[in-house]
Amino acid sequence: MSANRLAASNLKADDSLNSTQLVRYCVDPNWLPYEAIREGKHVGISSDYIRYLESHSSLKFSLVPTSSWTETLSFLQSGRCDLTPLLNKTVSREQFLHFSHVYFRSPNVLVSLKDQPFLQGFENIGSRTLAVPKGYRLAEYIQHYYPSVRTITVASEPAGLEAVLDKRVDLFVGSMFSVNAYIQQTGFNHLKIAGWGGPEDELRAGVGLGHEGLLPIINQVLDNVDELERIRIYQKWNNIAIIDETNYLLIYQVIAATLLVIFLLAIRTYTISRYNRRLTDKNQQLEVLRLQLEQSNAELEFLSTHDPLTKLYNRHYFNRQFVHDNRLTLSPESSICLVMIDIDFFKEINDTLGHSIGDSILKELSEVLQHCVRESDVVARWGGEEFVILCHQTSVDAVKSLCQRIAFAIKEYQFSGDVQLTCSFGIAKLAANEPMQSCFERADKALYQAKALGRNQVCVDETHL
Ligand code: GH3
Ligand code: MG
Ligand code: MG
Repeated sequence: MSANRLAASNLKADDSLNSTQLVRYCVDPNWLPYEAIREGKHVGISSDYIRYLESHSSLKFSLVPTSSWTETLSFLQSGRCDLTPLLNKTVSREQFLHFSHVYFRSPNVLVSLKDQPFLQGFENIGSRTLAVPKGYRLAEYIQHYYPSVRTITVASEPAGLEAVLDKRVDLFVGSMFSVNAYIQQTGFNHLKIAGWGGPEDELRAGVGLGHEGLLPIINQVLDNVDELERIRIYQKWNNIAIIDETNYLLIYQVIAATLLVIFLLAIRTYTISRYNRRLTDKNQQLEVLRLQLEQSNAELEFLSTHDPLTKLYNRHYFNRQFVHDNRLTLSPESSICLVMIDIDFFKEINDTLGHSIGDSILKELSEVLQHCVRESDVVARWGGEEFVILCHQTSVDAVKSLCQRIAFAIKEYQFSGDVQLTCSFGIAKLAANEPMQSCFERADKALYQAKALGRNQVCVDETHL
């Protein structure tokens, strides 16, 4: 046991003979790590020294809670508190307090926003405003030694730091340990310690007038605090760490935001490319459908204008194109001839060889007709076993010989079922201004004539010749 510790133990032993003395005390409720009241309890460096005093003397301490340092000072003045454990000695405080020996020292610092320059001491503050906690020794000190400094009184150290953050003041002065603790606890990363401010705090206990009898006991115990105990208390409450200039939180936020943007862009690119792929697929399908539709339309168009069995133009097309189109009749030089053709005794062929042979014969005859006519001539199936040929720019004689060529080709052709097929032909020449319908009727009349003459004949209606 050290000499100091031995002395303290002896004192406790001596005092224990005396009756226990109750001391009502007040603290600064918001001055960590030095002292504070949290959930009604006294915490901080001074709380450990109070406990040390209790365990090394007959003094018993009872906390009188206050809501501010100013209230604590007024309680001390009015006698509602006997003692406060940790404060600086000032001239004005000496009016109502007696002080113990110094038992804790700490520097004061100036705090500014991070973008402000470093500065040393109050003499370099210039025109900047400085926040000082109300009732703190520094207020008195600055007023006395630096009256030109523009000070603004704040309720507490945290209030002073917030005033700097809100740019209501340029600087704040406070004790280094508490400033640092507050910056770390609240994450006020925009603040920095800009330089040393004023004299070092020399902290001691203060007792109200009439209680100076406590001081010898307090001095005796605190002067002899074991060095290891001092270090333990100091380390327990001093959480000073180097204020990290790097704002990792911001860096992490930026990285997270960047990753999020990259992620969203990747999703967007993926979605767009998927959408484009789908669009291409759909376009291809649409193109296929369009081609199918075009083909269907072409087929429909073909079906609507052609005979499905022989593939020749059908009656509907022929009528639309020539019979109901008066333009053909307007031109006197059009020189149009119509030929009506009817297969002879076709019913008999059907009856003897069957309908499908009859169909084949119809198809074969269609080929013969198409083979014999010129490209400008139009061949159509008029219905059943009747056909019609429209010849442009052709004389009646030329049409007659065309019919004879056809008759000859039929004769030569090897039809299904070895049928010896013959046809009857009726010719009419379209007269000037004659409606096509009338020309048809005349060609039909000529055909009837050919049938009447025994079939396999070519007859011409000579009405307008
Ligand atoms: P005519 O010499 O007087 O013309 O005698 P025909 O037997 O040829 O004349 P008719 O008008 O008596 O008979 C025509 C026949 O043609 C009747 C019908 O069965 C046949 N026919 C009509 N259309 C088709 C067809 O598409 N296919 C087949 N196989 N026969 C058809
Ligand atoms: Mg007929
Ligand atoms: Mg017939």
